[in-house]
Amino acid sequence: MDASWYVLLAILLGFAIGAASVHLLGLAAQRGRQVMAIASEPIPDGITAMVHVLESAGVVLDGSNQVIVSSPGAQALDLVEGRTLRAHEIADAVRRVWSTGEAEVLDMTHRRGRLGGGHDVQLRVRVAPLGNRFMLVLAADRTEELRLAGVRRDFVANISHELKTPIGALTVLAEAIEAGAEEPERVRSFAQRMQVEADRLGRMTKELIDLSRIQADDPLDHADRFPIAQVVDIAVDRNRVLADAKRIRIMPRVLEDADVLGSEELVTMAVQNLISNAVQYSPEATHVGVGVRVVDGVVEVAITDKGVGIPAEEQERVFERFYRIDPARSRVTGGTGLGLSIVKHVAASHGGEVSLWSRPGQGSTFTLRLPAAAGPAHKEIA
Ligand code: ADP
Repeated sequence: MDASWYVLLAILLGFAIGAASVHLLGLAAQRGRQVMAIASEPIPDGITAMVHVLESAGVVLDGSNQVIVSSPGAQALDLVEGRTLRAHEIADAVRRVWSTGEAEVLDMTHRRGRLGGGHDVQLRVRVAPLGNRFMLVLAADRTEELRLAGVRRDFVANISHELKTPIGALTVLAEAIEAGAEEPERVRSFAQRMQVEADRLGRMTKELIDLSRIQADDPLDHADRFPIAQVVDIAVDRNRVLADAKRIRIMPRVLEDADVLGSEELVTMAVQNLISNAVQYSPEATHVGVGVRVVDGVVEVAITDKGVGIPAEEQERVFERFYRIDPARSRVTGGTGLGLSIVKHVAASHGGEVSLWSRPGQGSTFTLRLPAAAGPAHKEIA
């Protein structure tokens, strides 16, 4: 082969390599454009709007697990940091759903907020593919729902325990009466004790019904307007017999009358419970004060006794359902441990509060504070 052939061959080879390179470059460019198109794929119509109106928190991720939309709820729950998911449990679930194509549900604890260490919330998270390019993460905050379920469980456990005692006592007493049928004296004494236990059961049932009614209903939804002086009169009156039996003088002192909005029956029940406790936990021949005043639009009813008092470490707990400082003594007085928890719920459902000052051996003052209704009190209108 002479030299001119070599030159021609080299030129042809050069062309071939050049053409192949141009073709390959073209292909690469086309691929690149496709990748770009996927990466910046427009979010299908309606998804952004849908995520923003979701009641639960919603996040949409693209194929490379980058967050492309997150709802205000998701931001409030701190699910997203920059363009990634904060919780590794959710990120792991997203990866699994990409590979299986099957939606997943997971219950998890998530730390919300970073300031001051944040606090834990209980989430139910659903991860599901959205078409074949996106992933949808929905998270519902179940913290309150689970807390309420816990409260209900405790409540039922408490009630069962509390009802068992008087019911057990009634059974034992009935058996004793049967065994001692020939001895009228013993039968009479057992029957009297049966009456005490039956009374206690009756009172407990009534108070439980009252309590569940207060918790179920919002008295401000169908509020009446009533003067606090009238509430105090009725509540004092209802405690008269109990107080007389212990020669205790109840001394009401209404400095200023004002109206309250809500349920007169419930507020009366609350004041009545406070006065009845003051009488129960005071020695004979003492005084119980019931003072009413209005301070900056707040009606204050303060019930003061010179009774046994409440140690500082018990002062929070006495408002809990069924809590009694001295259960043995309480059995004698017929206490149910529900009175103060009713007062606390009545106060809260009327937008008010109840507070306690007490010193063992000196006495206690319970103060019920309720917002005064605007405008002049009933009496002045009449
Ligand atoms: P109870 O039916 O036992 O009186 P409450 O819920 O009304 O239930 O009160 C809870 C506990 O708080 C009582 O058992 C008692 O130990 C204590 N307590 C309530 N009021 C007074 C008071 N005025 N003085 C002293 N102790 C009180």
